Amino acid sequence: MTVRNPAADSPEDLRDELEGRLDDPALRPARLGDFIGQERIRAKLDVAIQAARQRGEALDHVLLSGPPGLGKTTLASIIAAERGSSFHSTSAPAITRPADLARLLTLLEDRDILFIDEIHRLGRSCEEILYPAMEDGHIDFIIGEGPTAQSVQLSLKPFTLIGATTRSGMLSAPLKSRFGMEFKLEFYDTDSLSRIVARTAGLLGLNFDHHATRATAARSRMTPRVANRLVKRIRDYVTVEGRTHVDEDFVHECLSRLGVDTLGLVELDRRLLRLMIERYKGGPVGLRTLSALVDEEERTLEEDHEPFMLRMGLMEKTAQGRMATQKAYEHLGLPYAGTRDENPQLF
Ligand code: ADP
Repeated sequence: MTVRNPAADSPEDLRDELEGRLDDPALRPARLGDFIGQERIRAKLDVAIQAARQRGEALDHVLLSGPPGLGKTTLASIIAAERGSSFHSTSAPAITRPADLARLLTLLEDRDILFIDEIHRLGRSCEEILYPAMEDGHIDFIIGEGPTAQSVQLSLKPFTLIGATTRSGMLSAPLKSRFGMEFKLEFYDTDSLSRIVARTAGLLGLNFDHHATRATAARSRMTPRVANRLVKRIRDYVTVEGRTHVDEDFVHECLSRLGVDTLGLVELDRRLLRLMIERYKGGPVGLRTLSALVDEEERTLEEDHEPFMLRMGLMEKTAQGRMATQKAYEHLGLPYAGTRDENPQLF
């Protein structure tokens, strides 16, 4: 069987999809019951939302952290739906001036939800607006300049801030401490991802058999956004081939054509590992060097590529830099000569 390539992914497309710019709103679960996996977080949120609803209060502020594509934005919008609140969404890089944030806060109605994505990128002066807003429900600002300057306090309606971050370690301690609940989303296991693949395939009207579903899940980098992306790319092949049924062989063939290997690695992941191994004898090699060699931003490597490879045990992060593990050599079919400590003469 030959599979034509209806939509070759460019690296830009892949990045857009990894970062969510091409997410299909129709695939986003709308209620907690449709959100698959992350059971512990779901259970805790369920209680907190029910309690806030019964007391007629705004939900406590929530911080969601974890790698891109694991469902932080989805959970935030679900919280709003379950709480019966209006959902206002923005991202920290879009808030450049404290006055913009202050305005956003004053426009919120009782129990509204303000979602700030990438909250670790909020500037210091904007953060300072949030402290009293989150803690005491007011904002302070200064009118005028010099000796006549006056401090004015403005009360806000009770609201919930939901912050999302891929880098919780970069969040300042004062901001972090103002969140009443903090949840770290984990990578998904194959069972949960299979359910997500099955759901997406169903929503897109595709007939995936059980093995095709598992095979797609297994190459989805433990990430729902990637699972959805793969199902949509397979759908392109289904359309072009005029197929009615998707089996495991077809999935493998489509994904190989897209450059997604058996572990779910894409071309850039493999290039990074190869560089560490072939140029630096496995490492350590600094992030800046890797970023220059592959011509990608350090942030893209750190946020979109490394977390999964670290989780899979293909690389390690040390104080000296990144290192490829024995598993990476084996995966790429390259000879492994042991570590520097085991075989110092080879390094
Ligand atoms: P993040 O904000 O963490 O980058 P998103 O919430 O935007 O991730 O999720 C990416 C996509 O993956 C969403 O459009 C949604 O369709 C899907 N998704 C994420 N988590 C789940 C889940 N638990 N169950 C089903 N689909 C999910």
